[in-house]
Amino acid sequence: MTDHYAVVGNPVAHSVSPAIHAEFARQTGQDLDYARLLAPRDGFKSTVLKFHDGGGKGVNVTLPFKHEAWNLVTVHAGDALDAGAVNTIDFRNGRIIGYNTDGIGLVTDLEQNLKFPIRNKRVLLMGAGGASYGVMHPILKARPELLVVANRTPAKAVALVAHFQKFAKLALRGMSAQPYQQLGGSQFDLVINATSAGLSGEMPALPTGIFATGAFAYDMVYGKFTPFMKFAAAQGARVAGGLGMLVEQAAEAFFIWRGVRPDTAPVIALLKREP
Ligand code: NAP
Repeated sequence: MTDHYAVVGNPVAHSVSPAIHAEFARQTGQDLDYARLLAPRDGFKSTVLKFHDGGGKGVNVTLPFKHEAWNLVTVHAGDALDAGAVNTIDFRNGRIIGYNTDGIGLVTDLEQNLKFPIRNKRVLLMGAGGASYGVMHPILKARPELLVVANRTPAKAVALVAHFQKFAKLALRGMSAQPYQQLGGSQFDLVINATSAGLSGEMPALPTGIFATGAFAYDMVYGKFTPFMKFAAAQGARVAGGLGMLVEQAAEAFFIWRGVRPDTAPVIALLKREP
């Protein structure tokens, strides 16, 4: 019998998760299908529970519902408890189990696929939404020199940093929240764009000159050469989009659901070739 999975979001039409999971299923011989579910902004919970009642085995959660997903699940597993955000739900033995695989996805893509170790790097994380909550603790566990968080609405960056304060010591020189306009004069080795600005062809209000020599600029948005990537490349930074993270976080979700670990490299290569 075919098992049913889906990604729930708003918007969700741009998601390539169905193609990734179809490829993982083909590769590992698993019998499953994977759909896109557009949930109304005020209808996340009812959309997920209806899918579950219809026999769904699990869902991925994308923007803007990752905090709501954390509140919906009855068990927080893996990185989810600390993250305060859930991107993977497993319906198992009557329980609704929440995980967060975004952090594993980002760190695996940076360190293993792109060969950019986070250890001892000065890191700037832009954005304070669900994606940022998911990656904070995994970034800190990779032992950066320092971690600065900036966000368009500064109070949300302050709240994000406060949420993870108990892990601050994992960064050699600690972490802080700073408004974009106060970043002038600072230099970073790794700048991660965890905002959705690139989806609408925009970028955060970053000052120039923040990229250290050899810096890496990573945009979680995938499938586009975003204004942030253009801005960073023009200043000599190496740039990458979020496709590798997407495939790696999906692989972790697939493993949680199916107990089988797919090979990500051919899937990343396949999706890079597609227009
Ligand atoms: P979210 O919860 O809706 O948060 C969006 C964030 O983007 C907020 O911090 C928001 O700032 C900021 N923002 C939006 N428009 C902006 C603009 N024009 N200028 C500056 N900041 C702006 O979304 P999310 O779940 O965190 O996801 C963020 C992005 O990451 C999405 O594009 C998502 O597709 C991507 N993502 C990719 C992966 C992957 O695997 N590649 C995984 C997770 C997420 P305010 O607080 O001021 O509103």
